[in-house]
Amino acid sequence: MTFSLRPTHHDPEIAALVDRLRTYLDGELADYERERGITHESRLTRADLEPIWERSRELGFYGIHLPENYGGKNISATALAALKEEVGAAGRVLGHSVLGEMGGPLRAGDILRHATDYQLDKYLLPLVRGERACCFSLTETDAGSDVRSMRTVAVRDGDGYRLTGHKVFSSAGPFADFAIVIARMAGTGESEGEKPTFSAFLVDLDSPGCTVSDGATPMSGEHIESDIVLDDCHVPAENLLGEEGMGMRIALGRVTTNRLLHCPTLIGMARRALDLTLERTRTRKVAGGRPLLELQAIQHKVADMATELYAARSMTYDALAALDRGEDVRTEAFMCKLFVAESAFRILDEAVQIHGKEGLTQGNEVEFLFRKVRMFRVLTGTSEIQRNGIARDLAGLR
Ligand SMILES: Cc1cc2nc3c(=O)[nH]c(=O)nc-3n(C[C@H](O)[C@H](O)[C@H](O)COP(=O)(O)OP(=O)(O)OC[C@H]3O[C@@H](n4cnc5c(N)ncnc54)[C@H](O)[C@@H]3O)c2cc1C
Repeated sequence: MTFSLRPTHHDPEIAALVDRLRTYLDGELADYERERGITHESRLTRADLEPIWERSRELGFYGIHLPENYGGKNISATALAALKEEVGAAGRVLGHSVLGEMGGPLRAGDILRHATDYQLDKYLLPLVRGERACCFSLTETDAGSDVRSMRTVAVRDGDGYRLTGHKVFSSAGPFADFAIVIARMAGTGESEGEKPTFSAFLVDLDSPGCTVSDGATPMSGEHIESDIVLDDCHVPAENLLGEEGMGMRIALGRVTTNRLLHCPTLIGMARRALDLTLERTRTRKVAGGRPLLELQAIQHKVADMATELYAARSMTYDALAALDRGEDVRTEAFMCKLFVAESAFRILDEAVQIHGKEGLTQGNEVEFLFRKVRMFRVLTGTSEIQRNGIARDLAGLR
């Protein structure tokens, strides 16, 4: 039996899409990974990912959330979340490349709506077609939660800008052709009390003065992030995204949407962990040959895991439904990111506990999921930053 409390079953269209996606993830994509010996720790190359971008696009999954004029199906946030949950639950290494998360349209987020015709033609439509890829570069070593303290600076230079700075942990960096870089405008925020302004730029990663390097390896052991080092790198004026000074709004707008859309991925991973744990409790014999699941101490743990999952999923799909109705879900998105990341971590912690030494062994799926899920209490805004946002909204300090 597979654990399931899937709200999407009520909608036949979403259920059909999810079924089609699951067939692809468990069949063709699983075979592709097996044939190439791809694991979570593999150093993936663009050549590993491109065939998946192409095939996922052929099947209609890559960029499926986009409007029809961009080749998508304009699906609701709820439907996209159901697909993301299924990707999370499938446990595929390359799952991130199916809907366009790894350098594709989901990574670009809602920046499409800030793009000029030139930027659409040169950068974003090729990205939507899976021909080009991007990363998003906001974080620096000394500027994470407090992004406004960033040091990367943009100096106006004739018909363009010169960018200097060092961005870290740009996901999809190893596969990207260009980065969406947020930089402080030179001459702003330099004196006491003066507010800095920021702009967003599309930076070609093969530009002179731009270097992409490996950077640190996160605890998941994956090699999917890069450092982007800019040394007086020229960026033409037509690569300014939105207006000068709008960069932080563009960046944080993208982060808010992502905050909610990370939740179904986490729910999928927690669901997978619960499935694996239930399986383990049936097959693992202890205490005189009884299966683990017959022990009340274990039954209570799996009951708590399932209950947390149900709560996390319910609030997430409730917020998504409100988003689909056109409501402002900023506060709910903070709450969902906070609760889902914290509860997925608790679920994974119990999954490891119930797996015993197997759960502590490298190469075991639960061990990987534990490390992967742990990162989300920090990624896309830490749990503390979500609480700050909730409290600010409650206090009317928006
Ligand atoms: C695997 C991975 C992928 C990433 N991908 C990207 C990416 O694609 N693009 C990108 O730009 N960035 C990316 N990041 C960076 C990520 O978004 C930051 O790590 C995150 O925003 C937190 O910043 P920080 O790590 O510097 O923590 P810090 O800001 O140093 O925070 C440290 C601790 O202090 C707490 N804290 C900080 N400020 C406050 C406050 N005001 N109130 C209460 N508590 C506070 C935090 O909650 C945290 O517990 C990635 C990071 C990782 C590890």
